[in-house]
Amino acid sequence: MSAAANSHDALKNHLLAALPADEFVRVKSYLEPVSFKLGEVLYESGDKMDCVYFPTTAIVSMLYIMENGATTEVGVVGNDGVCGIALFLGGDTTTSRAIIQSAGAGFRMKKKDLRTEFALGGVFQRMLLRYTQALMTQISQTAVQNLLDTNALHSDDLIHICGWCKRVDVGQENWEEIEEAVKTLGVFEQEKLPQITHGMCSDCYKAMLEQLATYSGGK
Ligand SMILES: [Zn+2]
Repeated sequence: MSAAANSHDALKNHLLAALPADEFVRVKSYLEPVSFKLGEVLYESGDKMDCVYFPTTAIVSMLYIMENGATTEVGVVGNDGVCGIALFLGGDTTTSRAIIQSAGAGFRMKKKDLRTEFALGGVFQRMLLRYTQALMTQISQTAVQNLLDTNALHSDDLIHICGWCKRVDVGQENWEEIEEAVKTLGVFEQEKLPQITHGMCSDCYKAMLEQLATYSGGK
């Protein structure tokens, strides 16, 4: 195997390497080796995408562009992932900018081929869906960190977080885990990040009252 072929080894991408032999052979036939330069933009926010990328040695940074033009990094994709998840989730456009953070190699797979393979419902499909779930968690954790960053630009909107169970009020007395709440509240769709204020949710309040009643009753 030549050095060039070696640097474009599909098995260096963990997702591709996890495929069973038959699926790997088929998927590999769709892959096109690509080299990425530092700072190269793979997708621009709002762009129509026509392929996904499986990095092997390159690292892609996903940036969310806020309405005021400011950017915030929401996720990183390396040899453990795939860039362009919107394509197999049924969308054609991206809400973030994907830019090469570390130059290197990877593979490109056309939208048409990706959808054909995805529709077969094999390990490829399950693997991509599982990866999406992990990436979503990564993105929401980043959002939480950004929310907690006091140096960031914040709006006058308040997010109520329960100081006891750390759940977040998403309205109508519904409290969700913080990672879920970031999605429900669409934190990234807002121009500025909201501020956090601590409180107590109704469940924790009820539990506290019950506990107090037990104490006073047990005297
Ligand atoms: Zn609570």
